[in-house]
Amino acid sequence: MDSSLQIGKIIGIPIRIHWTFILVILYVAWAFASFSEQVFGKAYGFGSVESASLRWAYSLLFAVLLFVCVALHELGHSYVAHKNGIRIKSITLYFFGGVSSMEEIPRDPRLELKMAFAGPAISGILGLACVLLAQPASILDERNPLTIFLWTLGVVNLILMVFNLLPAFPMDGGRLLRAWFATRMPYVAATRNAASIGKAFAILMFVLGLFSFNFILLFVAFFVYVGASEEEKATEINISLEGIKVRNIMSSSVRTIPPSTTLRELMELMFQEKHRGYPVMDGEALQGIVTLTDLQKVPDAERDTTNVEQVMARKLYVIAPEDEASTAMKMMSEMGIRRLPVMDNGRLVGIISREDLVRAIELSSGRGFKR
Ligand SMILES: [Zn+2]
Repeated sequence: MDSSLQIGKIIGIPIRIHWTFILVILYVAWAFASFSEQVFGKAYGFGSVESASLRWAYSLLFAVLLFVCVALHELGHSYVAHKNGIRIKSITLYFFGGVSSMEEIPRDPRLELKMAFAGPAISGILGLACVLLAQPASILDERNPLTIFLWTLGVVNLILMVFNLLPAFPMDGGRLLRAWFATRMPYVAATRNAASIGKAFAILMFVLGLFSFNFILLFVAFFVYVGASEEEKATEINISLEGIKVRNIMSSSVRTIPPSTTLRELMELMFQEKHRGYPVMDGEALQGIVTLTDLQKVPDAERDTTNVEQVMARKLYVIAPEDEASTAMKMMSEMGIRRLPVMDNGRLVGIISREDLVRAIELSSGRGFKR
């Protein structure tokens, strides 16, 4: 999941680039090189080897500067967050731009408005500045390489601003829309509305992409649709689990089994008790966790002679009873697991499963929100 490279730190925030972003830099360099060849190739007689390499050097510089602009856009969001006491874990630059990963999304609509707006505002300022700077340069010579350079950089920044203002998650425009709704209605309803508009937008883009055979548009449409659905789901889950601790919903009567239990015995136990997973304990020490999936990997004929010690997962993720239920949810989805042993000072005090979390989410959605 973490295929990104840290390249530096600004105001204490690590800046990382994802491998997809390196592809973008190369693509941008190539696109700028071919564009500039068309525009000023004739005027300057670019065709010789030296001028071709000069043009490529120029184009790479363009791509790197564009990368700096995207990073500045992201820093715009982070700066506002930082000033308002929200800790930013990192900024990662992806193929479509940047993502600031923060401890928690602010639940204050006015702050979210300011934060979401800061990025496109920076892109807009950079874009205008470049376009204006290109003006005096063009008086000297409108085919001046510097004019083309500044003008293109300016226009691309303005496109970035407009693209990010599209009213759909995960673009900034989606967050602006949610914040605007959130000043009028509860947060979950606001997210739902913003997500619906985002999805409608994605469908529109998809249809347009189909009719114009524009694959980039199809790709963006897909990306926007998934982004909107994910944001909606994550917000609902986080809000439903707000204030609920692991100890409130875990099962405290945990049935554990010794490592020497055979898979045949485990199978019968699961059948009787209708549990799908058991912590494996050797005396007081937690050794691992064994699940129905582990059992199913072993052919029936070998289940009498195999014991749980041989098939259980030894890499243990545990959680504390005082942790937030939403943390348990996050751990389970990130690790792709269904249950977590609950440990208090090295002692097993319970187990929390995905079912426990789902039940908590359902119950608390019925409770209604006051936000
Ligand atoms: Zn942004």
